[in-house]
Order: sequence, then C-alpha cells, then structure tokens
Amino acid sequence: MKRAALANAPDRCPVCMRDWAEIPLPKHRKTRWDFDHTVPITRGGKTESGNVRAICYSCNYKKNNNQ
Ligand SMILES: [Zn+2]
Repeated sequence: MKRAALANAPDRCPVCMRDWAEIPLPKHRKTRWDFDHTVPITRGGKTESGNVRAICYSCNYKKNNNQ
C-alpha cells in the first residue's frame, strides 16, 4: 500500500516545494520522504492512497513537532 502511494507522488515535496533531489539525505535515512496522513491514524485514517501523501522528512518532522 505504501508503494502504491509513492507511485502517485509528485517529483517534489508538496509542502516546501523542493525537488526531492534538492533535499539532503541524512546518513541515517534511506529516503528523503515520509508518509503524511491527511486524516491521522489516531482519528480513524487509513494508510491508503487517498489518505497518504509523501512529504519530505523535514516537513514531516516540523509537522509532528507542531502537534
Ligand atoms: Zn518539504
């Protein structure tokens, strides 16, 4: 399911609009993106293509810190 969502991903982070290639890849990570749930799992959201988008790890990190 996660791979299907990624297949629909744009070529850049939809939050900060940086190309994936412009985003530095930290050594401890394998990918530059994380999966962002439109409806959080905690509110009944599911990990499926309509509810998941790829955003870069730094946007996801900021988002999680704001919650
Ligand atoms: Zn981003």
